[in-house]
Amino acid sequence: MALQIVWFRRDLRTTDHAALATAASRGPCLCLFVYEPEMLQAPDFDPIHLEFLNQSLTSLDLRLQQLGNRLVLKTGRLPDIFAELHREFGISAIYGHEETGNWISYQRDRRVRAWARANGIACHEFPSNGVVRRLASRDDWSAIWKQRMRQPVIPEPATVPPPPPHVQVPSIPLLTWQQAGLHAPRISPPQTGGRHAATDCLHSFLNSRGLNYRSEMSSPLTAAESCSRISPYLSFGCLSVREAVQAGRQRLLQLRGSQQQTHVDPAWFQSLASFESRLAWHCHFIQKLEDEPTIEFRNVNSAFNGLRENEFRPDLFEAWQQGVTGYPMVDACMRSLQAGAWINFRMRAMLMSFAAYHLWLHWRQPALHLAQLFLDYEPGIHYCQCQMQSGVTGINAIRIYSPARQAADQDPRGDFIRQWVPELEGVPDEYLAEPHRMSRLQQDLFGCRIGRDYPAPIVHHETAFKTAQQRIFAARDSAFARHNARKVYEKHGSRKRTMEQRTRNEG
Ligand SMILES: Cc1cc2nc3c(=O)[nH]c(=O)nc-3n(C[C@H](O)[C@H](O)[C@H](O)COP(=O)(O)OP(=O)(O)OC[C@H]3O[C@@H](n4cnc5c(N)ncnc54)[C@H](O)[C@@H]3O)c2cc1C
Repeated sequence: MALQIVWFRRDLRTTDHAALATAASRGPCLCLFVYEPEMLQAPDFDPIHLEFLNQSLTSLDLRLQQLGNRLVLKTGRLPDIFAELHREFGISAIYGHEETGNWISYQRDRRVRAWARANGIACHEFPSNGVVRRLASRDDWSAIWKQRMRQPVIPEPATVPPPPPHVQVPSIPLLTWQQAGLHAPRISPPQTGGRHAATDCLHSFLNSRGLNYRSEMSSPLTAAESCSRISPYLSFGCLSVREAVQAGRQRLLQLRGSQQQTHVDPAWFQSLASFESRLAWHCHFIQKLEDEPTIEFRNVNSAFNGLRENEFRPDLFEAWQQGVTGYPMVDACMRSLQAGAWINFRMRAMLMSFAAYHLWLHWRQPALHLAQLFLDYEPGIHYCQCQMQSGVTGINAIRIYSPARQAADQDPRGDFIRQWVPELEGVPDEYLAEPHRMSRLQQDLFGCRIGRDYPAPIVHHETAFKTAQQRIFAARDSAFARHNARKVYEKHGSRKRTMEQRTRNEG
């Protein structure tokens, strides 16, 4: 009897897993995950991702064992691994989810499909979350997303029948960073991978942490606790978007129900509404990469080509990477991100905006650096956001963040800056966001000599801000950019507002 393979990739769960449920209902399955050297060596991959992946694989394997099966791990190139299994045992079908990953996984999936076709093997691919393969028109997307989110979560199969005894497929142990040819991890993941941790995280958000999500999501002081923090679980597929949406809706119903008997803080309703809209954004952004995989490395609007590419300053890039730009809010965010592998949306946007506007760096290198730092790296969201925050889409409002303004708004007492930039500990609040404004005497008095204890700003804010503003608006207002923007909007734009109404960012 030929083998059915359930091919796990970024869908490391057993519930709401259409591929597993379908294969298990049809007969014995080999559950397979393949470490692919090409992916592990890619410039967007970091040992922290491997550690979280391994934790998630362990959790998945345990669950599959409880369901009567197990996870087989292999390492190698695809489709070569499938070809070996096919030669030895004969494969009848491969079941998996449609993946919208990076360019490497996109090419890999094409190779696997071509190989399966050539060998007469059925490849059953199921939609991932709210992302639609071969979407005919963006006009239809929102309705499809809503419809998918309404469909019941697919139950975990009662059992996953194992392959017959003669099919002995050896599994390798979890791959270490040394075996993967990676550098030693800088930090361990701040969140544990796997299904239990994923559902715990979601439930603690919905039942307690999320109360002030709406009002506390923008400050790095409060966001780490008040935001859901489910992003790595969605990225690795320990949790599906539909599960998160439906859990949020159930919580809403429960709160509405208990309103009769007890006081319910109205902040819950606002926070849960914001949460669901962000889950829709999750898929909205990934849909863009699904529809145009080159967004990973090419400006979505070609009118911006050449705007920054030839002016890349490695020295500025390095200062930004290391958190020594002389802008305390930027440096605090970068250092906090390095230490914790996560930072909130507003601060991600500020980091990217600072790189793109103040430092005039093309988005690609900063995007790769952030991809390595973010535990939740999700190519579809990431590259679209990086392009958007750099102003090269032509369809989003230009937003150049002032680091000092962000410090005043989001860290008014300077606690965040003092935590991450201890060189500035003695600097009084009024100078904390711009310590270079202190006189020499004040610098000595407060124990922070600019240029010695903390860097002078690597660029002059007002000049860099104004120059960037002029250049980006000039590029955006060209006839070519406007013409292209229409096409970008047609293909990728959110239909919630018309293009003319789009005065704010999409995220
Ligand atoms: C430059 C830049 C790069 C980013 N790169 C990534 C990335 O690689 N992976 C990633 O998951 N998110 C990315 N984001 C979006 C956002 O910052 C994170 O999703 C969010 O901070 C994750 O924390 P959370 O799970 O607590 O989010 P919550 O605020 O609790 O939101 C719940 C979920 O909604 C989705 N979501 C929230 N905000 C956005 C958004 N603006 N766009 C799309 N989906 C959103 C995420 O899946 C998130 O887990 C990026 C944002 C920027 C500005």
